[in-house]
Amino acid sequence: MKNKVDFTNIKTPAYLYNISLLEQTLNSIQKLANQYKYHVHYALKANNNPRILQTISGFGFGADCVSGNEIKEAIKQGFKTSQIAFAGVGKTDEEINYALEQEIFSFNCESLPEIEVINELAQKMQKTASLALRINPNVDANTHKYITTGLEENKFGINLWDIDSILDAMEGMQNVKLTGIHFHIGSQITDLDTFKNLSNRINQIQEKLYARQLIVDHINVGGGLGINYHQPDEDPIPDFESYFKIFHDFLELRPKQQLHFELGRSIVGQMGSLLSKVIYVKKASKKDFLIIDAAMTDLIRPALYQAYHKIENLSSTCEEKQNYDVVGPVCESADIFAKAVSLPKSQRGDYILIRSAGAYGQVMSSNYNMRDNAQVVFVD
Ligand SMILES: *Cc1c(COP(=O)(O)O)cnc(C)c1O
Repeated sequence: MKNKVDFTNIKTPAYLYNISLLEQTLNSIQKLANQYKYHVHYALKANNNPRILQTISGFGFGADCVSGNEIKEAIKQGFKTSQIAFAGVGKTDEEINYALEQEIFSFNCESLPEIEVINELAQKMQKTASLALRINPNVDANTHKYITTGLEENKFGINLWDIDSILDAMEGMQNVKLTGIHFHIGSQITDLDTFKNLSNRINQIQEKLYARQLIVDHINVGGGLGINYHQPDEDPIPDFESYFKIFHDFLELRPKQQLHFELGRSIVGQMGSLLSKVIYVKKASKKDFLIIDAAMTDLIRPALYQAYHKIENLSSTCEEKQNYDVVGPVCESADIFAKAVSLPKSQRGDYILIRSAGAYGQVMSSNYNMRDNAQVVFVD
């Protein structure tokens, strides 16, 4: 990407989005999903740029939303309501009412009180809501603790030992219908064995439901497939083939049961980069700092989860390498993109590219320190 784009006219910081890489990624998913007859929803929270959403909805994928506003935006950008799943531990009455009016595909429910409220609100509208139980399978995603969601200690999902009592309670409810079971165990999962463990656990849960003569219409295994932050150019499109095959090989679907996925990071992660400029090179006694014009307010992942992003100097042709701590201008010690990054000797005005920033980047921006938001530039 860096050779094709004339970045010198771009006001920094800027998010650069490569729609053609996005389309190639979507093509790869579509081909496999058609082959296996799997249903893919895009998790809007990873990146909600309108052009990106239109591109994804144009491929016919569904949406995975975690707020009422995300549902609104998904509909506005062309996603079908019959393909919208709504997740989240704290859905408000207002959000539930809106989703009921839109007759979405599924409320992915995380507690009995939530199910009771949905039943009540659906009754007032004389509707039947389609529910999936979000079950906490207690499978370790082996990822950072802040993006692990499928362990008993996490706030997400219904614990295994509560499933029966919730199903009992639902038998008395007239305005909700159990259509699926849902799982999402974490994000940036790179060890595919994790999904094998998830599949095996789902098989056990299905047995449990079958003992109650219950076969749900769909299984939703959530998202979480990781991307290669260390080598974005070697691996621009995640290995969806191996990913889908794991489920094909290990998850036992009952006849007519549909399998759904909710992919976020793996769809949009690699198509985005954050372009920035060196404001100052600051020499300190122990190390040198590159102080750049992007900050944690533009991309918080390094500060929030110690996340790694590959960093490149696009301007320097210097053969000599040097280690720099690459930091933003914000008044927080956590405003660091990376420590001891080996880069060509850099100077004020050099362009710095932070790679793999398409997911959970721009969407987590803030205006802390009254900073402006990074602009968006499409580079295909
Ligand atoms: C965030 C989220 C996803 C997407 O996760 P990725 O790791 O970005 O693929 C899918 N499902 C639910 C319920 C989520 O909260």
